Amino acid sequence: MRVLLISSEMVPFAKTGGLADVCGAIPLYLEKQKVEVKAVLPFYKHVKNYFFSKESKLKRVNDEILMTKIGRNVEVYFIENNWYYDRFGLYGETLGDYQDNLARFSYFSIKALELLRIINFRADIVHCHDWQTSLIPVYLKNIYAHDDFYRGIKSVLTIHNLGYQGLFSKDEFPKLGLDWKIFNIDGLEFYDKISFLKGGILFSDKITTVSPTYSKEIQTKELGAGLQGVLLKRDKDLSGIINGLDYSLWNPSRDNLIYNKYGQKSINKKYINKQKLRDECGLKQIKVPLLGFVGRLAGQKGMDLIASSINELCQLNLQFIFLGTGEDYYHSLLGKISNEYPDRIVSFIKFDNELAHKIYAGCDIFLMPSHYEPCGLGQMISLKYGTLPLVFKTGGLSDTVNKDNGFIFDSYDKQSFIQTVKKALLIYNNKLKWRKLVQNAFRYDFSWDKQIKKYIQLYKSIK
Ligand code: ADP
Repeated sequence: MRVLLISSEMVPFAKTGGLADVCGAIPLYLEKQKVEVKAVLPFYKHVKNYFFSKESKLKRVNDEILMTKIGRNVEVYFIENNWYYDRFGLYGETLGDYQDNLARFSYFSIKALELLRIINFRADIVHCHDWQTSLIPVYLKNIYAHDDFYRGIKSVLTIHNLGYQGLFSKDEFPKLGLDWKIFNIDGLEFYDKISFLKGGILFSDKITTVSPTYSKEIQTKELGAGLQGVLLKRDKDLSGIINGLDYSLWNPSRDNLIYNKYGQKSINKKYINKQKLRDECGLKQIKVPLLGFVGRLAGQKGMDLIASSINELCQLNLQFIFLGTGEDYYHSLLGKISNEYPDRIVSFIKFDNELAHKIYAGCDIFLMPSHYEPCGLGQMISLKYGTLPLVFKTGGLSDTVNKDNGFIFDSYDKQSFIQTVKKALLIYNNKLKWRKLVQNAFRYDFSWDKQIKKYIQLYKSIK
């Protein structure tokens, strides 16, 4: 089987979020499963910077294509166009999105498809990601449908976050090189605008999201972002595959960033991490559970719920560590509460990977009451560290956390949240029950080795 992964970001070359991690992992793990895979992305300034000291690793294919290799032998191609991609941002800068994103990503889509012919790689599947590459299925089914080389190539679109759709003024439609006939309610039109993502949803052969529950939720009015009807129409081709976790980075028995390595069989050492973390953060050593939060300080991540409950929670026998950046309101709220209850709560408003590792290792409970969550990484990391996640029942959180490995509440309100924290506190005081949950948490396996097989199965299922 031959697969071309087409994406707008990919580690280690260019990243703004989790999309890059997933797109960096998929090719490596497909290769391990003997799939013939190549990848392509724009030749951004970020990519140039990446290769600054390692130019020898970059080969020129022609005037506008460069190539490098990752893994054992996976070719990654870069489409060069300095006017479009030699900029400080991937999609925009502090003033907002780039005004020519429609042109930048339709150009990339066409060039990525042309690449197949240039390198004579007749892929069985092109795997696209998010709105930036959602025009590819549209081009395949319209412009390339009658070209012998491309006939029969199937497309998969993975939606990482439905919140970003690639919406543009219809005045720009002629730039896409598509027939106006597909600018209608059954095509790319979305409330009188062009929607790239809608095009991808309608024209791809299969659609995936990054968790099974999220694939159902986006078919509802509440989380469908206006596309629920279109997604419902594609229901039989829509499924969810949980992202894998990179266990070479996240593994308490090999983690050099934590105070003391530990594993399922040396769980006592986890508590050394707890003590040292409290010392480092200036929290008193008292016999209470330590709750950690690592993430964006935003409403989506449940900060609204935390903000409304924190005063009450600080009256309980608990301690909290917050690490995150995000909305100003939550920055100052956490600062204020930390001053009021210095024995109970500390907060760090910064991005700090090392401290994040120490929090995952040193806490008893990981707080992640996200309002919605396409997949979520924090809860998967915390399970690996034997730190029980406390989550709202949504998206990827409900696919990974349950009452046997953590705490989950199903009504997004202050009362249910506080009740669940109290329940966790009660169980914490029952050492036998607690140990059982922690042992269960260690057993969960979200390795890419396992998850990649689901993508291969999906590719094979396309007729
Ligand atoms: P998101 O929706 O932000 O992508 P995820 O849970 O999928 O949320 O992933 C967030 C990742 O970023 C996790 O690995 C988390 O540990 C990390 N992270 C988030 N904020 C911080 C921070 N302030 N410092 C260190 N790591 C962070």
